[in-house]
Amino acid sequence: MPTETIFQKILKHEVPSEVVYEDDGALAFMDIVPNARGHVLVIPKGETGENLTDTDETAMAPVWRAVHHIAPRIIEAVEAAGFNVIMNNGHAAGQRVFSPHVHIVPRFDGDGLEPWPKIERSVEEIAADAVIIRAALKE
Ligand code: AMP
Repeated sequence: MPTETIFQKILKHEVPSEVVYEDDGALAFMDIVPNARGHVLVIPKGETGENLTDTDETAMAPVWRAVHHIAPRIIEAVEAAGFNVIMNNGHAAGQRVFSPHVHIVPRFDGDGLEPWPKIERSVEEIAADAVIIRAALKE
């Protein structure tokens, strides 16, 4: 039995959190070390694995529904100009809590959160990547 993550403990009310929204399938609460004012995390209530790769779509569907419902309202509440919806999957992607969660990060004009750097990739290399990905998606 793997060790419970902090988010699983939040779900069971074993650890305090600032819950802002809850429905049958999802729970949303304030990120305790936010990247921006109003940074909220949304987690599924159903059975999950560590991230999107090993979690059933039926568990994740309520999370995407909740994000769609609450993100515009959060943005209005904190008077942000936009928002990012981010899900880190795997250590290399920056995931640090290994149960699935989606970040809603409000954005403010000139907030200094720099976008990810672009990489050099030729048109031919991109086309070759598309061939590999298309083949993988047919499997
Ligand atoms: P990730 O890097 O995608 O795994 O994101 C984990 C997020 O969880 C980070 O933004 C942390 O600030 C946040 N976090 C960690 N512990 C807690 C907690 N107890 N309550 C709320 N947010 C947390």
